[in-house]
Amino acid sequence: MIRRRIGVLGGGQLGQMLGQAGVSLAAEFIFLDPAETPSARHVGRHLRAGFADAAGAATLAAACDVVTYEFEHLDLPTVQAIATTTEVHPSPRALKIVQDRIRQKEFLAAAGIAIAPFAAITSAADLTAAVATLGTPCLLKTARDGYDGKGQRLIRDPLHAAAAWAELQQQRCVLETFVTFSRELSLVSTRGRDGAVVFHPLAVNHHRDGILRLSRAPAPDVTAALQTQAETMARRLLNELAYVGTFTIEFFHVGDALIVNELAPRVHNSGHWTIEGAVTSQFENHVRALMGLPLGDPAATGHAAMVNIVGTFPDRHRLLALPGVHLHDYGKTERPGRKLGHVTIVDPTASGLEQRLAAVLALIE
Ligand code: AMP
Repeated sequence: MIRRRIGVLGGGQLGQMLGQAGVSLAAEFIFLDPAETPSARHVGRHLRAGFADAAGAATLAAACDVVTYEFEHLDLPTVQAIATTTEVHPSPRALKIVQDRIRQKEFLAAAGIAIAPFAAITSAADLTAAVATLGTPCLLKTARDGYDGKGQRLIRDPLHAAAAWAELQQQRCVLETFVTFSRELSLVSTRGRDGAVVFHPLAVNHHRDGILRLSRAPAPDVTAALQTQAETMARRLLNELAYVGTFTIEFFHVGDALIVNELAPRVHNSGHWTIEGAVTSQFENHVRALMGLPLGDPAATGHAAMVNIVGTFPDRHRLLALPGVHLHDYGKTERPGRKLGHVTIVDPTASGLEQRLAAVLALIE
């Protein structure tokens, strides 16, 4: 059975790119989103409702063969209610684990995956004890709703722990050791309904103010052993979750090893390069998995870089006059720290990519 009618919780840029990928497979999308003009409205129907709106969720479920989501900060009971009538992928169990940092860390630890030492924090006493055990510097992160570096405090001195927790409104948190890494890498993979798994090459990611600015893929200087290390972890987690769809792991690269920073149960910003830079994109493979179709080749077709457009939009004429530039405009109004679009460039050679990238960065930075 081919499931053509796909419901998506969230109609932002990830929904927009999912919809674009789905057009060529004759998928039909409905995006549930409370915004008046969500980015994805041009590539499917827009059902305007809140994410915890039971009636909206029921309407979506009734109109679709399968429901997915483009962000994880969802109301779990609403997603579980949808799943009583309509398939939801990734599963509500995967969502429940990943959307909460405490559950996510405990899941990773139980699966034997390398992570930074951590402690669950639910009281001031927990925090005092954990700072003493883990030492400083360490990072306090809210268990829920953190993204783009929001909801995090670096604790350099035990004396500052109480203030950090107060700033985070004494919410449930995780405390983790500060990792001294050489770089940040991410692996985007997709698991199909038949259990087949495909992996894109690792990407290297550069953040500023907690926001992803630049990814290069395939990441330079990745040995076959390192790629295999990442894939082995991903396969174990995907199989353990009986996962269907695209899945992202963000890693810290330390020496020859990978330490998992966090998981995302969805297509990911660090995989946007795959639209023009891979045989099959992360978005198309997610749609294929939802529809029950075979997954496509995830291999890179050249050297790719993806640059996020954050806060203010550069001159579109000058940007598009650069050779080889692929612009993705999310149609959003400018706001400091907001992701408004991205640019991807692909070149047959690493040096050629760097030349093109320098020209793009000169306009975007
Ligand atoms: P996150 O929201 O957990 O992905 O964190 C955002 C960014 O903060 C990461 O991309 C890292 O650059 C940095 N970061 C997060 N956790 C740690 C850690 N344990 N040690 C060092 N840097 C971290």
